Amino acid sequence: MALKDIYVCVDCLMAIANNDYSGLDYHYGPEEAERRMEEINAGLAELGWVSLGDQDLDKEFDNQPCDCCGDIDAGARHHCYVEEKTDA
Ligand SMILES: [Zn+2]
Repeated sequence: MALKDIYVCVDCLMAIANNDYSGLDYHYGPEEAERRMEEINAGLAELGWVSLGDQDLDKEFDNQPCDCCGDIDAGARHHCYVEEKTDA
């Protein structure tokens, strides 16, 4: 299985690592939290299998969009692996 590196925002990291969306309620208002959760779930569904990556490869600050939810807020990005999709 070929693995591909992706970088995700902390919201996605929590969802991947702990299936934990509680941080959203803390950081956002109720409607925004709901919207972010949908974005994250859509991203995870698109990515399929996701595994936590190497913390040494985490970026403390990056302005690239999150590879999962597409969040464009610059900030920390956490390394994860996804299974590389091969178009047969
Ligand atoms: Zn994200």
